[in-house]
Amino acid sequence: MHEERFDVVVIGGGHNGSTIAAYLAKSGLSVCVLEERPECGGGQENTEPRPGFRIDPHATYLYGGAAPGFEQLELWKYGFRMVYYQSMAGLVTQDGIAANLGGRWNKEVGVDSIKSLTGTDPQGAEALFLQNLGDNGQRDLLRSLFWTPPVPSEYELEPKDLPWWKVFRDLLPGFWTDRLVDMSFIDFLDEFISWEPLRCFESFAAWYCGAHPAWDGMLLPSLGGALLVGYSSGSPRGGMHTYAHAIIRCAMAHGARIITNASVGEIIVQNGRAVGVKLDDLASYPEKTIWADKAVISAVDVKQTFLKLVPRSHLDASFTQKVKDVSLKGGSLFVLSVICRELPKYHGNKDYFPEEVYPSCVAAPADNMEFFYTQTRDAYSHKKAPELTPEHLTMMICTHDVYDNTRCPEGYHILSPIYLEVPPPQYDVTGPEGINRHKEEITDAALKLLKSLAPNMDGANIVDVYLNTPYDSEFRNAGMSGGNWYGARQSEDQWFNMRPVAELGRYKTPIDSLYLCNHTSHPGGLCLMAVPYNLMHILIEDEIVEPKSWWYPSPWYMPPTKTGVGS
Ligand SMILES: Cc1cc2nc3c(=O)[nH]c(=O)nc-3n(C[C@H](O)[C@H](O)[C@H](O)COP(=O)(O)OP(=O)(O)OC[C@H]3O[C@@H](n4cnc5c(N)ncnc54)[C@H](O)[C@@H]3O)c2cc1C
Repeated sequence: MHEERFDVVVIGGGHNGSTIAAYLAKSGLSVCVLEERPECGGGQENTEPRPGFRIDPHATYLYGGAAPGFEQLELWKYGFRMVYYQSMAGLVTQDGIAANLGGRWNKEVGVDSIKSLTGTDPQGAEALFLQNLGDNGQRDLLRSLFWTPPVPSEYELEPKDLPWWKVFRDLLPGFWTDRLVDMSFIDFLDEFISWEPLRCFESFAAWYCGAHPAWDGMLLPSLGGALLVGYSSGSPRGGMHTYAHAIIRCAMAHGARIITNASVGEIIVQNGRAVGVKLDDLASYPEKTIWADKAVISAVDVKQTFLKLVPRSHLDASFTQKVKDVSLKGGSLFVLSVICRELPKYHGNKDYFPEEVYPSCVAAPADNMEFFYTQTRDAYSHKKAPELTPEHLTMMICTHDVYDNTRCPEGYHILSPIYLEVPPPQYDVTGPEGINRHKEEITDAALKLLKSLAPNMDGANIVDVYLNTPYDSEFRNAGMSGGNWYGARQSEDQWFNMRPVAELGRYKTPIDSLYLCNHTSHPGGLCLMAVPYNLMHILIEDEIVEPKSWWYPSPWYMPPTKTGVGS
């Protein structure tokens, strides 16, 4: 009888599944990726609701500029092209301030804008964000945070000896005090940033990029999220899906087999070891059982992996309960896309938003911290549709087409996405369809608010509006559990070797040869190629793969020791 047999079977062809397939295939293993949807890429998707107009229903910016994967997988050979933006970010307040914060490729615009608004040169942390972006070893700081596997539990490290704090101390000795390790990002902003709208912007930026800025002990993961986007300051030409294509082409060029319309229904476990998978009956692939000689890698979320795919009889009840308890209460995003003829002309922007340095992402309104706290309360505490006043509706208004003319035909612009933080459907106190019931009102209020900040955003200018709620995201993409871009909450108890639970912190599982590679593992959401890069260290430790000389590990990687005691 014909048997499908590979060294490694990867479940899910999203960003993390495709990337680990590319790494393993390049290392010489036979690899098969099984993807439920008709196309790989997961959250790295672009759609064309009108021919020629590309919108981003999920991921929009490249945060992964510091990833070793670009070099190691040589993605430029497979079509990856980056567009660098002259300005990444701006903020607008209700009372008429518009600040252009610039970005890595044009720092002057941010410095000038802040100076003109506050009367002083950016100092301290403001300078860190605006002037030093991309300099002074920030790549090292980001790599120590995101591209380093969690340390084995046998090492008993003080928080200040965690990789990122070591790098931080070397990089920014002037900022370092012992107090930082217990601080939240908001504590840090309160201490080091005096201009309130910038504090508000940075808080939103951290929240929209990862760890919530109010979590104690999560200062660097929050700061790191915001720095990731500033470090890249751009996006792939054509949108995030072209990045996915480059990764998939790389995997295929090295011999990986990619099978779509192939939903996995079960991980086959024999004698405590994962040995293959069974496809769902509806999968269009004729062979329903696919064997894995070396490893099965689950690149779908931790809940699906253990609550659906691994038969319960192989798992301890207390472990299963811990997986059930993993909190998906990260941020879910209400996503609007607006096709218009003119870009928003924000009030107060006379000097700072010309088209050649138009900020790609504008936070508005970002008057003061009350706006931030109000929206956080809606999403995390009240857990229901926001009230429709400006304090509840701060948006991240993104546009790419001023820098990437492949996004829409000439004569038009696309504000895509416009993000708005809302609770994940599963936690909505009015039921999972709560936000969907209010989507028209939220859209109308958001557009009305946009018009109040940018008077040209009126009927004649707006050609079309599309929207995608978290519930819609979940329907579109089986990986977006809770419509949540981060996979799981990004607090101290679900970060680094605690993510998603301590037993799974290093991508290994209670089932031999079954590994995790999804954004529910460290370091979490975003298309960083970080989960697969970190997992490679573990697969090398376990002698599953032996990459050639193109591979280099993280300089902060700490392997388990034979004696069980770290050196
Ligand atoms: C609104 C929104 C905005 C975002 N913005 C950004 C951004 O700007 N930049 C950024 O980098 N990231 C962003 N993200 C996050 C990013 O999209 C995710 O972190 C990333 O896609 C996670 O990749 P993944 O491979 O872990 O999971 P996914 O991308 O969800 O991939 C999982 C894959 O597994 C498949 N699958 C599920 N179940 C099965 C099964 N049983 N059998 C086979 N296949 C299965 C799914 O179809 C999917 O393709 C955003 C996400 C959202 C929702």
